[in-house]
Amino acid sequence: MNIHEYQGKEILKRYGVRIQEGIVAESPEKAVEAAKQIMAQTNSKFVVVKSQIHAGGRGKGKVKGGEQRGVALAKSVDEVRDIAKNLIGNVLVTHQTGPEGKKVNKVLVAQDVFYPGETEPKEMYLGILLDRSKACNVIMASTEGGMDIEEVAEKTPEKIVKEWIDPAVGLQPFQARKIAFGLGMTGEAFKEMVKFVTSLYKAYVDTDASMFEINPVLKTSDNKIMAVDAKVNIDDNALYRHPDLASYRDVTEEDPLEVEASANDLNYVKLDGNVGCMVNGAGLAMATMDIIKLSGGEPANFLDVGGGANAKTVEAGFRIILKDPNVKAILINIFGGIVRCDRVATGVVEAYKAIGDIPVPIIVRLQGTNAAEGAKIIDESGLKVQSAVELKEAAEKVRQVVAAL
Ligand code: GDP
Ligand code: MN
Repeated sequence: MNIHEYQGKEILKRYGVRIQEGIVAESPEKAVEAAKQIMAQTNSKFVVVKSQIHAGGRGKGKVKGGEQRGVALAKSVDEVRDIAKNLIGNVLVTHQTGPEGKKVNKVLVAQDVFYPGETEPKEMYLGILLDRSKACNVIMASTEGGMDIEEVAEKTPEKIVKEWIDPAVGLQPFQARKIAFGLGMTGEAFKEMVKFVTSLYKAYVDTDASMFEINPVLKTSDNKIMAVDAKVNIDDNALYRHPDLASYRDVTEEDPLEVEASANDLNYVKLDGNVGCMVNGAGLAMATMDIIKLSGGEPANFLDVGGGANAKTVEAGFRIILKDPNVKAILINIFGGIVRCDRVATGVVEAYKAIGDIPVPIIVRLQGTNAAEGAKIIDESGLKVQSAVELKEAAEKVRQVVAAL
């Protein structure tokens, strides 16, 4: 689960990580109020207005059809109002959103941390994530913050220091010192950085996060270390342990079809192809997507209905697939192990009838317990559904359908 920058910063603050302070606002007037409060509270002359969307690259991104950047410095409350007006309700396009962009519903009005008199604020990068291949957490740090870390990794990989942390042992003090040293910190800033890394790591572990990315981490001229941005991903499978964090979910940021699927306990990932597929079991789903590709089509989705495919789950799956306008054909590929093929076939027929006339060709391949009975139910239903028992047969039917598109 991705969360917003302002929510990530709330978590950091609870763990004693110094953050760029800010107040979230949902209208230009609220943004002005927030700016006044932040200016008074933090003694800053200026504020930054930052669009809150689940994507990075906002500083360089622009609002669709305009020149407004997704992160902008405001030198007066009037500028705050103007920037907030340009952002809220509009669509921001960054290199991470894709060309369609993301709608901005909220802005974070934050203190200007590059404060006047600041000779050379140092922007650094700190990320903590899971390294599956080493079964460890890894802290990545770079002196080249503020810019795309992917670019740094490609062009100057030697400027990224990495420290692997055994989850059973935890972050050792020498490791935090190694990071601070690697970032070129000395004196007071070195101590501050060790504290920063240690608190950040504790927050990462405690919240069952799979990623914490702070870019930029700022060293001010008075040697304070501060999180200016926060990109946080919490492991969905651990959310039951964090009811307070679960409320951070913002479904308006997620694909509506994926939200609907998760409400129906379906495992669905939208893809860009033209053949929708509904399968039981993730392995079979992967194989089915391969078959669609080999037949000349492109999978429109990954959809695993799980072990107990019945009329209700099949109907929910159908409805979700049909909401994708790119879908021109559907392949249902179910292996009847625990669930019998005749029951799945009945489910498909009932779901079809419940939805009404489905405008795209459907191929149903049922294999396993009572496969022949299942095929018979499909064939005798009188609906525009083709049955198949062998995988080759299903692939050939998909090929024909795709060729006719
Ligand atoms: P991102 O572009 O989505 O990663 O958003 P960030 O929160 O990282 O902000 C983008 C850039 O805005 C940063 O790299 C900074 O250069 C700039 N920025 C952020 N906060 C401030 C601030 O308080 N003052 C000024 N002048 N610039 C800021
Ligand atoms: Mn950033």
